[in-house]
Amino acid sequence: MPKQLAKLGPALAGEHAEATTIASLRRQAEGCERCDLYKNATQLVFGEGPVDARVVLVGEQPGDREDLAGRPFVGPAGRILDECLHEAGIDRSECYLTNAVKHFKFEQRGKRRMHSRPNAGEIQACAWWLGAELDELRPEIVVALGATALMSLLGRSVGVTRNRGQLLTAPGGFSVLVTIHPSYLLRIRGRSDPEAERARFVDDLAKVATRIG
Ligand code: SF4
Repeated sequence: MPKQLAKLGPALAGEHAEATTIASLRRQAEGCERCDLYKNATQLVFGEGPVDARVVLVGEQPGDREDLAGRPFVGPAGRILDECLHEAGIDRSECYLTNAVKHFKFEQRGKRRMHSRPNAGEIQACAWWLGAELDELRPEIVVALGATALMSLLGRSVGVTRNRGQLLTAPGGFSVLVTIHPSYLLRIRGRSDPEAERARFVDDLAKVATRIG
């Protein structure tokens, strides 16, 4: 039985942008100045995928490659996600992929742009768009890929470690599967057992495949 939750994060509670289509939401978001992240990023990276998707995957923020391409999950972490979705029996082309934060946050070190984690204010500000995407899409399952997505969806009190692999049901809402961000599998190379961690991630995603049949 999915666990019921009493609290919601900013993407599921409070006010969100209003529009009648994902395309019009995206057009609105292109002029967004709700936080400072638009100032240094190349462009907005909005969600993409079929508007009748039953599954929405939510990551943290675009990375360097996504920022340049203007599309979510097209870099190294996206490649791992694609492979793991395939192994779990999920067709990426049938999912809608997005991020909790739509502009790339980074620190410039020489020529390299190093990923920098969005803070609580930026997550809160950008939940205006994530919440609106979910209002419009009304999926059956939302996959929270890592702590930032989870905070936006279900607030601070729900941790990834404690709830990993669980399907949580928000009051009156859809199920949220809690798992890691695929970039974690890149970071642990040489430090942990990457194959076991990867298999665990595939197992988490397979719960989505089982649920949607
Ligand atoms: S990160 Fe989100 S809230 Fe901040 S400027 Fe970009 S779209 Fe707006």
